[in-house]
Amino acid sequence: MNEIARHIEQIARELPAGARLVAVSKFHPAEALMEAYEAGQRIFGESRVQELVTKYETLPKDIAWHFIGHLQTNKVKYIVPFISLIHSVDSEKLLSVINNEAAKCGRTVDCLLEIHVAQEESKYGFTPGSCRDWLAGNPLVEYPHVRVCGLMGMATLTDDENRIDREFAELKQLFDAVKESGAVDPEAFVELSMGMSHDYRSALRHGSTLVRIGTSIFGERAY
Ligand SMILES: *Cc1c(COP(=O)(O)O)cnc(C)c1O
Repeated sequence: MNEIARHIEQIARELPAGARLVAVSKFHPAEALMEAYEAGQRIFGESRVQELVTKYETLPKDIAWHFIGHLQTNKVKYIVPFISLIHSVDSEKLLSVINNEAAKCGRTVDCLLEIHVAQEESKYGFTPGSCRDWLAGNPLVEYPHVRVCGLMGMATLTDDENRIDREFAELKQLFDAVKESGAVDPEAFVELSMGMSHDYRSALRHGSTLVRIGTSIFGERAY
């Protein structure tokens, strides 16, 4: 068995029922994705629109593509026809553009709201407070071609495991509150995307349903 297949099997064994692996394949060539595909992996995460579109066009059609990076509104139209889940909705403006493009191609697009809980300044996303305040106005009724399926977040890049635990716990708490809030369809609101190569075990302990793992599967990325 090759290395990629071995890594995928290892992670798969650690996933509790209800949690799934998003293989983050950004910057890795199609051959690497095919090794993962042949090991049974069907969900791939990409963070750049052009790279994603090229891979979508050349790789098997039963792959579920997830977009995990910062999405510019002018590029939404390129991925909406085929995307399976957009993890990184970080503004109402973006949600509204996704809704309009989805309407044009007769789709309803599954999305997650990106929540900023990490210490780093540069990350995108709603703060927990701004997310609650915004949803209190029941805004999603305006966007029938978007289905908000949950939240996505990243913990601070740190060795401090207590901090990481606290941030994932905060995301889970927000997830539970939003699910009960009446602003989302609780039947659809089922995904909590959190956990990367270095912190996915903590994320799973806090109820992650989608771990986004790149390096531990494919090795280091060449930028
Ligand atoms: C790159 C990336 C990942 C994967 O990170 P690894 O450390 O390689 O596992 C997960 N989530 C997002 C949003 C990313 O951009």
